[in-house]
Amino acid sequence: MTPESWLEAHAYLRPLAELSAEVERAAAEIAIPEARLPDWDDYRDDFLAGVTLLQSTAAAIDLDPGGRMAAALIERLALAPSSGWLAAEARALHAELQPDPHAARRIVDLLLGDQSAAPPFAGLMRYLGWTVMARFIGPIVVAFNSWRDEEKWHRRYCPTCGSLPAMAQLVAEEHGRLRLLCCGCCGTRWRYGRTMCPFCQADTQRLSAVTVEGESGLRIDYCEACRGYLKTYVGEGSESVLLADWTSLHLDLVAAQRGLKREAASLYDLDPAFAGALSLIERSDLTAATPQADRPST
Ligand SMILES: [Zn+2]
Ligand SMILES: [Zn+2]
Repeated sequence: MTPESWLEAHAYLRPLAELSAEVERAAAEIAIPEARLPDWDDYRDDFLAGVTLLQSTAAAIDLDPGGRMAAALIERLALAPSSGWLAAEARALHAELQPDPHAARRIVDLLLGDQSAAPPFAGLMRYLGWTVMARFIGPIVVAFNSWRDEEKWHRRYCPTCGSLPAMAQLVAEEHGRLRLLCCGCCGTRWRYGRTMCPFCQADTQRLSAVTVEGESGLRIDYCEACRGYLKTYVGEGSESVLLADWTSLHLDLVAAQRGLKREAASLYDLDPAFAGALSLIERSDLTAATPQADRPST
């Protein structure tokens, strides 16, 4: 599965693909400072108590370089000779942040969930901020993945940044399949109970699933108790395309039409790009995304 073949089959996603590509191009121009790895022994007690890595004062990870990368990305987009909404919103954000000597810190606080200093266009700021922050902390996430004892986490929020999952993935293991929850912000994937709802934490023994023909192993798993759902990739090998969240926004529409609730964390509730993309999907022929049946998930 390549991004291009996916877009050929889902032409209504092209506006989002172009937005994503424009942001990725600008982000690629920004140098990535080296991130210092924490002392894992210092962090161990916090980890066992459920404190996420980035929120742990014992791990003491300095995120300000990532915040400065985000400010640089906003500036780059603000100065681009574009008349589109992205440049317009980036200009407004840049005008707000530029006079603030603590702008980098403010961005970091917003990314970690503090809404108190949220500027206008905070949705765009979270999206742009996580795009570069994920690059900055990439080596830390890799090291954390190999240090972390998955059996000692099993929590519904991301062990790295604390976000609720954006999606899930079922992967094969020796005795069946295990479920990973996928963070849409920092990119961490972590293990969670197969039948447990990460939103209301009910264990219904089985989640229900809506399968969608022609969607390359994507399906919608949902909880009967709270009607929260997670888009789930039942496969391996196309993670970069199929776990990107925006590449399956049409499934969010299918879920909404069935009265299911998006409780998953999203970086893509950006107006007007998101609204524009959804209206394109609504107008398009959704036969490719016609649910086949509800059935217990396997
Ligand atoms: Zn995360
Ligand atoms: Zn639930």
